[in-house]
Amino acid sequence: MSLITILEHPHPSLRKVAGERDAAAIADPAFQRLLDDMFETMYAAPGIGLAATQVDVMERFMVIDVTEERDQPLVFINPVIRERSVDLRVHQEGCLSIPGIFADVTRADGIEVEALDRHGKPFTLAVDGLLATCVQHEVDHLDGKLFIDYLSPLKRERAMKKYDKLRRHD
Ligand SMILES: [Zn+2]
Repeated sequence: MSLITILEHPHPSLRKVAGERDAAAIADPAFQRLLDDMFETMYAAPGIGLAATQVDVMERFMVIDVTEERDQPLVFINPVIRERSVDLRVHQEGCLSIPGIFADVTRADGIEVEALDRHGKPFTLAVDGLLATCVQHEVDHLDGKLFIDYLSPLKRERAMKKYDKLRRHD
């Protein structure tokens, strides 16, 4: 396994809408290796989710593990969020593509998501809390959307000023 470079805002690939992953080519060894590398990269960062667009692959899939033990890896290929609860949840989000920036984002507390697993098997998952927040954040990536898009103009401007400063000191 090897680490992959994570693209950082404002890389243009982070704003592209990813296309479907060919469901017939999920067993492809190169694809399976890419999933393993994405997990390794996510765990090393460390982060709880990584979408394909963040590693410059314009296809709809992502890896997630929100557990503290880092022992429940989840793969979502061609994920579709079918249901969103009326109840909302506020979470202080960060993003591996916008390092150093954290801000409260309000999303549905519960969701139902359909996807294929890493063996190409369809599954439906009803989740809430942190995992629901994370799935919504990662599906946004596949649509070229970032968590800072949800901030008010003033808050976003402040966050981006801080981000620019952090990057200059890198
Ligand atoms: Zn992110």
